[in-house]
Amino acid sequence: MELFYGQNLIEFAERFNSDENCMEYLAQIKWKNGFKCLKCGHSRSQIRHNHSRTCNKCSHTESATANTLFHKVKFGIRKAFFICFEMSTTTKSLSASYVGDRFGVTEKTARLFMHKVREGMKSSGNNPMEVMFMSMSL
Ligand SMILES: [Zn+2]
Repeated sequence: MELFYGQNLIEFAERFNSDENCMEYLAQIKWKNGFKCLKCGHSRSQIRHNHSRTCNKCSHTESATANTLFHKVKFGIRKAFFICFEMSTTTKSLSASYVGDRFGVTEKTARLFMHKVREGMKSSGNNPMEVMFMSMSL
């Protein structure tokens, strides 16, 4: 599993070319050290078609987005990935209205999501691309 690094938009767009693709990436990173059930601590699971996992012992299902920045994102995970990418690769401070226009979401939606991303970056201070996928336990 390769983490995506770099600032190349074309490479990013090719790497993350569908929601499915983004979910798979998220799941691979989330469980890179193996599955551990949040409810019972069991380590064996079944992988479901949407990349969520169901505990073999208690049947608790955890989605790839649970406890991440991307949880319950309504505008689609791929868009969310792109907004993160934009935020992590620009040196300018982005406004919510600009992000809204660029990614086809409302200004309010953009503001809420950007707030989550910034909070995550603040709390970790790591490489933004790592923050985006790994340290985002909001
Ligand atoms: Zn369990």
